[in-house]
Amino acid sequence: MKGLDSLVSSCWGDDGGRGGMTAARPLVGVVGLGAMGAATAYHLARRGARVVGLEAFGPGHDRGSSHGESRVIHQAYYSDPAYVPLVLRAYELWRELEAECREPILRITGGLILGAPDSGLVRGALASSRKYGLEARLLTASEVRREFPALDPPRGVTALLEPGAGVLRPEAGVLCHLRAAAEAGASLRFGEPALAWAPTADAVMVETPSGQLRFDHLVLTAGAWTSKLLRGWQLPLTVERQVMIWLRPAVAEPFAPDLLPAFYYQHDPGHSWYGFPTLDGVTVKVARHHGGEVTTPESVDRECHQEELAAIREGIGDVAPSLRAAPVVHARVGLMTNTPDGDFALGPHPECSRVQVACGFSGHGYKFSPVIGELMADLVLEGRSRRPIGPLEASRLVEVSG
Ligand SMILES: Cc1cc2nc3c(=O)[nH]c(=O)nc-3n(C[C@H](O)[C@H](O)[C@H](O)COP(=O)(O)OP(=O)(O)OC[C@H]3O[C@@H](n4cnc5c(N)ncnc54)[C@H](O)[C@@H]3O)c2cc1C
Repeated sequence: MKGLDSLVSSCWGDDGGRGGMTAARPLVGVVGLGAMGAATAYHLARRGARVVGLEAFGPGHDRGSSHGESRVIHQAYYSDPAYVPLVLRAYELWRELEAECREPILRITGGLILGAPDSGLVRGALASSRKYGLEARLLTASEVRREFPALDPPRGVTALLEPGAGVLRPEAGVLCHLRAAAEAGASLRFGEPALAWAPTADAVMVETPSGQLRFDHLVLTAGAWTSKLLRGWQLPLTVERQVMIWLRPAVAEPFAPDLLPAFYYQHDPGHSWYGFPTLDGVTVKVARHHGGEVTTPESVDRECHQEELAAIREGIGDVAPSLRAAPVVHARVGLMTNTPDGDFALGPHPECSRVQVACGFSGHGYKFSPVIGELMADLVLEGRSRRPIGPLEASRLVEVSG
């Protein structure tokens, strides 16, 4: 497989979206090449579509939602068991991508969900694991302490251990999808934002700084920037700032990936923290889940402040006490794009069925990105998806504005 650099400017011939339609091989534009757009470009190109991907920044950049070393993947979906079939397919697709790119992306470490025994979090995850026959077992706080020396949860906390959960490398996943998409013939254009789009009778026109492009179909996977591209469609999306920090515990060994699962601790429904095993042998990444301020990609404060670092250490310190005093090595800001119900928003634009949207991943989308790519390719190429996405349809959220 070619290196990414050689693929970044790749185009087929001089067409690159300016030519006309080829009925047998539709020409599809994908706006935004983060986690979802990279996967969508790949699945479309692999299935024979001619694809032009437009990305405002560089490949695998750190201004959106898909950076920061690690993402959790787990199967016992606590929020809605409807996600379980999708995540099971995602595991298969991640493994296929790894094989195609010869790059490790997914590491099985197990996953631990900690909370009050009667919390929706633990009960929901348990219900999912039972419904789908997933391997999972309940542990008491003292069992957690015994099995995972890095953790010491408060008395009374219950934990659900899911051995099949793991950690994804988000930058590697995006870059592998981009490389594989380009290998399959996609033209990927970095530093070329879509400025606007408009439907015509038989196509979709997209304006970029280098001119007009004409597509048979368009997919909008613009993450936190999506609202600007919806042409009056009022999707209730909010962008939330999230701070991730890397701590250096005095003793890193108990945080090794073969000794510690990815862990998520809900203190109460409004306060949850999570952490990862160390991936570099030195630092441990931790963060608060949600609870960040509402922002925009243009105005977001990308600095991390002492008081927020202290609050994260304090929160995670409830279950991993040695992290409470661990020095912060570095910190990064990321963006989540939330829907009011926390479920994804997928499907056609109400004014133009040639335009499909995938957004509102609400802080839990990364693990699904290959399956979202597959679903978007279904919607574009077949007009329907192979898996039911009813609860995730964007149309549930909105009315078309005036
Ligand atoms: C801190 C944090 C932790 C998370 N943890 C997890 C986790 O553990 N597990 C999990 O499954 N998920 C997690 N998520 C959620 C997950 O990372 C996101 O759902 C996912 O990355 C969203 O991908 P995306 O492609 O929609 O957005 P992005 O990756 O941001 O991609 C959008 C792209 O569109 C581009 N773009 C925007 N406008 C334009 C335009 N006009 N023209 C061209 N390009 C444009 C942007 O530059 C960007 O590259 C987390 C998110 C955050 C922020």
